[in-house]
Amino acid sequence: MPQPAVLSQDITSLKGVGPKMAERLHKLKLYYVKDLLFHLPLRYQDCTRIYPIGSLQAGQEALIEGCVNHTEVIIRSRRMMICQISDGTGSITLRFFHFSNAQRLALSKGTKIRCFGEIRRNSYSVEIIHPEYRIIKNNPPPLDDSLTPTYPSTEGLQQRTLRRLCQEALQHIDELDELLPAELIQQYQLLELHKALQIIHSPTPNCSVDALISGSHPAQQRLAFEELLAHHLSLLKFKVKAKQQKAPAFKTQGKLLSQLLRQLPFSLTQAQQRVIKEIQQDISQASPMVRLVQGDVGSGKTLVAAAAALHAIEAGYQVALMAPTELLAEQHYQSFKKWLEPMDLEVTWISGNQTARERRSNIENLLLGISHIAIGTHALFQDDVQFQQLGLIIIDEQHRFGVQQRLRLREKGYQGGQYPHQLIMTATPIPRTLAMTAYADLDYSIIDELPPGRQAITTVALANTRRPEIIERIRHACKQGRQAYWVCTLIEESEALQCEAAEDTWAFLQETLSELKIGLVHGRMASDEKEKVMQQFKQGDLHLLVATTVIEVGVDVPNASLMIIENAERLGLAQLHQLRGRVGRGTEASSCVLMYQAPLSKNGRKRIDALRKTTDGFEIAQIDLELRGPGEVLGTKQTGEMQLRIANLLRDKSLLPKVQRIANQIVQNYPECVEPLIDRWMRDREAYGSV
Ligand code: ADP
Ligand code: MG
Repeated sequence: MPQPAVLSQDITSLKGVGPKMAERLHKLKLYYVKDLLFHLPLRYQDCTRIYPIGSLQAGQEALIEGCVNHTEVIIRSRRMMICQISDGTGSITLRFFHFSNAQRLALSKGTKIRCFGEIRRNSYSVEIIHPEYRIIKNNPPPLDDSLTPTYPSTEGLQQRTLRRLCQEALQHIDELDELLPAELIQQYQLLELHKALQIIHSPTPNCSVDALISGSHPAQQRLAFEELLAHHLSLLKFKVKAKQQKAPAFKTQGKLLSQLLRQLPFSLTQAQQRVIKEIQQDISQASPMVRLVQGDVGSGKTLVAAAAALHAIEAGYQVALMAPTELLAEQHYQSFKKWLEPMDLEVTWISGNQTARERRSNIENLLLGISHIAIGTHALFQDDVQFQQLGLIIIDEQHRFGVQQRLRLREKGYQGGQYPHQLIMTATPIPRTLAMTAYADLDYSIIDELPPGRQAITTVALANTRRPEIIERIRHACKQGRQAYWVCTLIEESEALQCEAAEDTWAFLQETLSELKIGLVHGRMASDEKEKVMQQFKQGDLHLLVATTVIEVGVDVPNASLMIIENAERLGLAQLHQLRGRVGRGTEASSCVLMYQAPLSKNGRKRIDALRKTTDGFEIAQIDLELRGPGEVLGTKQTGEMQLRIANLLRDKSLLPKVQRIANQIVQNYPECVEPLIDRWMRDREAYGSV
């Protein structure tokens, strides 16, 4: 009779796992025996060899052996026992804060001991605090023949127990299926799964310890690869699903677009042309486009959006354009009115705070098909907003949307068996390979060129004690007809406080720069009031605009060429880059002053240096990634997306191109492998569970 597979059994089927223990194991998401195999060590202890004391490096964990020179109890800040040992190559101090008298007596001069711990080095000694140790009487005990894994654990669960359970699961590894197709394993020379797990749980002494500890060992890379692959496949699944849905195919000649281009004072950049072509290609198909356009600040994404909109409109469909803030939505509304109204197209404004009457009439225009494009904030997607025939949704400046939100949004536009096309635009670049991984459910375009004639932005960092100098600089610049922003930031405090700070600064600057016209915008002002001030600034009626970070994304006033950012050290790189991107949009040479409160922290200094060094959003994104890690950069920490068990997007970024390639191959040629892989690695990921 065939034995039932052990790996699929409940973890309580293992010897010594009672209800109490099971509860603890469940905390680690270990439910079945097989889960133990994928419970991977955090670290390794190397007790396979004895290190000469003279060769020890600070920070290293090592097994050493030596004879006690002396042992004494001393009282410094607290009572402690100090024991010095040496082995002929050097000597080291063992420091104990908890010890018994018996221990002290046993560590008498000349006693031979073996101990393990982390080596610390300060200016006058090398030491281990609280080493594990044993006294060697006659024959030294044998050394381990493999590295000892240290597993992620939880209260009441000892490493010893976890090690034993994992070793037991390992006995049954033959039952575990290799989910990658044999052909691919061969083609890409991947390690077999069984072998990889064996090495990871029970590394032999000839394994590279350094590689294992840094996570770069081929066995770990094999698992990281499989995990990334599973993630990628789960996103591709959405893409494949989307492609099976129906969407209106826009077959147009681009007459409206040509009409717009004729009316513009400049021509499209190469990059804009390319991206517009990519979009056009997508929307001429009968399945929905879901495309992300990344472009640095000022690269001209609005025009690309307009081009897409005009194709939809020419094909007889309506467009919804959503921006994250009223300010931005309003600005788009103005641009689109300027561009589209001369062509007799109707642009409609939908906002949370317009009068009920106005709103009703606007909504009616959309429902009747009188209006061609609706522009607004999230208010656009309230249930009462209905279109006659919505064909394209454009979302501006949003990279913080998770997969689920992207899907929900699309459902809103579902009408008559068809989905609208979707264009997402973001000004917060992330490195390409990372983008292709995090957004594998999307198609992806980059506008990697700025319109010609842009002037470089000079960035300087000044301590806020030099405020008077900075104020003189503004006075001087504005006298020459330039305009400036002064951004007040106070993060991690209430928006109310932030607005108050802006009001105070405004009052102060009005007093100090009394000859200048100074405006104020912040998040607590009514939107028509904000808009009025923005318009005045745009028209050049104001010299200086004091603002909170509401102006962070998208605001476009080409004549503004001086940007002051207060408390720059408190902002993230991406946000600083966004803010700085408000200048350097015209033909005037621009500058940005980062004001900071000294002393700068190490990371604060790195951020400010990065900004001084480059204005390239992609380069800044790369530095940001290194400083903060992928979860923060992608904004997915909160949503739980891209939480990886083994892989680390930063460390394993070299795997990503291969992951993409193999994922596509699997979808094409081995579709039966997709579900099992997703299931193995992402079973309890809520974010993906419902789809
Ligand atoms: P972003 O990509 O940051 O959204 P915008 O769409 O706001 O950038 O464009 C920034 C500025 O560049 C706008 O004033 C816009 O009119 C202008 N612009 C866009 N495309 C071009 C171009 N091809 N040549 C010159 N100026 C352009
Ligand atoms: Mg924009």
